[in-house]
Amino acid sequence: MQTDNSYANTFATDSDAELVLPSHPAQAREPQWLAFNAELAGQLGIPESLHTTAAGLGLYSGTELPDWIQPVALGYAGHQFANFVPRLGDGRALLLTEIIAPDGERFDLQLKGSGTTPFSRGGDGKAPLGPVMREFLVSEAMHALGVPTTRALAAVVTGDWVQRDEAQPGAIITRVAKSHLRIGTAQFVAHKITQGADESLRQAFADYVIARHYPLSKDRKHPYRALLRQIIDQQAHTVALWMSLGFVHGVMNTDNMTLSGETIDYGPCAFMENYDPNAVFSAIDRAGRYAYQNQPGIALWNLARLAEAWLPLLAKSGESQQQLIEAATELVHEFPIRYEAYYDQKMAFKLGLNSVTAETQALTRDWLSLLQDHALDYTQSFRQLADTLETNVEHFEKMQSWAAWQQRWHKLLTLQGDSDAVVSARMRQHNPAVIPRNHWVEAAIKQTVASGDLTIFNELTQVLRTPYDVVPLELSRYAEPAAPEKRVTRTF
Ligand code: AMP
Ligand code: MG
Ligand code: MG
Repeated sequence: MQTDNSYANTFATDSDAELVLPSHPAQAREPQWLAFNAELAGQLGIPESLHTTAAGLGLYSGTELPDWIQPVALGYAGHQFANFVPRLGDGRALLLTEIIAPDGERFDLQLKGSGTTPFSRGGDGKAPLGPVMREFLVSEAMHALGVPTTRALAAVVTGDWVQRDEAQPGAIITRVAKSHLRIGTAQFVAHKITQGADESLRQAFADYVIARHYPLSKDRKHPYRALLRQIIDQQAHTVALWMSLGFVHGVMNTDNMTLSGETIDYGPCAFMENYDPNAVFSAIDRAGRYAYQNQPGIALWNLARLAEAWLPLLAKSGESQQQLIEAATELVHEFPIRYEAYYDQKMAFKLGLNSVTAETQALTRDWLSLLQDHALDYTQSFRQLADTLETNVEHFEKMQSWAAWQQRWHKLLTLQGDSDAVVSARMRQHNPAVIPRNHWVEAAIKQTVASGDLTIFNELTQVLRTPYDVVPLELSRYAEPAAPEKRVTRTF
């Protein structure tokens, strides 16, 4: 396995900047396996000796690190619910190393839940079992659904108890990401410069992001504008996919938005069941700042914070400050344009249409209104819509505006000229049959916490690996919406 420490090597030397601080995992009392992702391990080129072996358990529990690993905690700032916090950082996570996969791609290997670090503030640095299982299930499901995301390599219980509202078993997840650099990291650099760090750090950090994630920007006339534009584009793509799947992230703070465009931090996230633009699941998001329909607007707001952190780098020579701010504002406002283009195309595909016109946009809007008015399940309704090409779906037939909508839809499909078979194949390719439904995620967690039984967790993991396939009958319960009394409307 090829490893490296490019970020630590670039930034650890300047310890005042606090971008990288050495830190060691806590000793877990009695580590035990929960899950190991052999497919991902293979893709990373991790040798079998570090799979489900004693050495693997030592590594993924942080109890026995190989001597070539020098763990570090990374510094970052962030706007939490719009309030700027200058020093957040990895309070319960450690970057172990970078892995260069056999295909040449570079990934961070990170432990989360492995004890306190210099950034822990008052926290215990630990992670309860429930959130670790949630992140494992949902991040891997997101990957299988085709959404850029951090991934889950391993999960272990530590044998220690973690005190929250009630005591819970402690656990550690090993997270894999293109990097853990966030909008909050760029903000941290900008803040450190206001506190006396050298101005050159801003450029050094941006240059690192270019080299690692956006190498093509380097040769552009204005590399930092090109960099910002590419991050905007990646985030537009990612958030459009969230929206198309009914995913609610739950904590879109600037420290939870990556520079790579990968979805990160599966805290109080959830997929909505009934289509509801105002859906909020996070128990702490009382004002609904991070509600489903607010996500594109929040992404834009966060990207404006990134542009601010990088403003001096975006300057062109001879430009006034006023002109610079106008140019940066214009750049950030490419986000909604790009977002809408990705979203509209994806929604057209979900309706079996291969291109976007004003009519397909209107058809999408009216379809969503139908779902909302009749409190229909977002995910299932798209699969059932494909079924209507062959058979009548009774609960659609009962809706007043269905016939008129269906007629418009058929007209567009006819104009397009594809056979029903092509249309329904396209629809199945863009509409998952199964998503990690909240009540099943909760049921998996409850079962494991209560008795150590991993049956639901393992079955759910399995069925979510191929979310666009027809679900086998014996697992079909995982695709069903929750019965009203089983709905889980709050996540933590
Ligand atoms: P999050 O809400 O997960 O995005 O975390 C926000 C900040 O709180 C980050 O700096 C985390 O490292 C920190 N944090 C969250 N939980 C803990 C914990 N149990 N101990 C220490 N720091 C934590
Ligand atoms: Mg976070
Ligand atoms: Mg979190």
